[in-house]
Amino acid sequence: VPKFGAYFMLQTLGEGEFGKVKLGIHSKYGEEVAVKLIRRQAAGGKMAKIAREIEILDMLKHPNIVRLYDVVETDKYFGIIIEYASGGELFDHILAHRYLKERDACRLFAQLISGVWYMHSKNIVHRDLKLENLLLDRNRNLLITDFGFANRFSHNKNDLMETMCGSPCYAAPELVNSEGLYVGTAADVWSAGVILFAMCAGYLPFDDDPTNPDGNDITKLYAYISRTPLSFPEHLSETIHSGAPTYPLSCATHGLPCMVGILPLFSHSPLWSLS
Ligand code: ADP
Ligand code: MG
Ligand code: MG
Repeated sequence: VPKFGAYFMLQTLGEGEFGKVKLGIHSKYGEEVAVKLIRRQAAGGKMAKIAREIEILDMLKHPNIVRLYDVVETDKYFGIIIEYASGGELFDHILAHRYLKERDACRLFAQLISGVWYMHSKNIVHRDLKLENLLLDRNRNLLITDFGFANRFSHNKNDLMETMCGSPCYAAPELVNSEGLYVGTAADVWSAGVILFAMCAGYLPFDDDPTNPDGNDITKLYAYISRTPLSFPEHLSETIHSGAPTYPLSCATHGLPCMVGILPLFSHSPLWSLS
């Protein structure tokens, strides 16, 4: 078994932008970790971006955000050693069930919001929230990962960010309409709404699916995001159909007294903009 730092390297967990993510086991203590490998060659001039990803992850300590354990450097690789999420991607969890029970979606959504609320309170925006970047631990608790697009935001600059990033399907209308200037935290809130929709419906509300005549190229997808009112599949409960922000989000998870405070933010988000 090949070794990387103190870890034995086992199977591949996912494909990253600059290399694979592998399961590692500590050679002495047997602890399971995820090793996000970055080939120095592939990373090229993007080392500053990777350093920022590591620096931001290091700041965040929350039960719904993957923990950074260590960074290991070799001649060829940078290895980010992070908490292992053995339940895999939320994406696959939804596919396996077709769509989630509203109770389960609610529980996971409360955990997502707990993590997002926490990072925003630390002046960090994620900017790439999507089903592939949300993982589950062995108890099916949600873990936010992949801070590769995350950045600090400052209230002084009026919370505007200059770069466009993340997946187009999760992009907020003000983002697609503003030619790159948008409110960072609100973009995360919109993406969280898209994720909530996807959990409950089993598909993305705005997709670049070629069977959707309006979504098969990015300009059309953006036009679609900006002007299409959402409709929900039949099977959803009356509470969701009516789009009420009073939907009983489980505030018990991780004690979320903040939930009441942030509900108005969801007026931006697809779920609440239906009526
Ligand atoms: P990238 O920035 O290139 O998208 P990610 O950090 O999102 O890389 O990792 C890519 C994929 O690897 C994820 O979508 C997931 O499937 C898997 N993965 C990443 N981190 C973990 C982890 N901590 N535990 C389990 N799987 C992981
Ligand atoms: Mg990713
Ligand atoms: Mg990334």
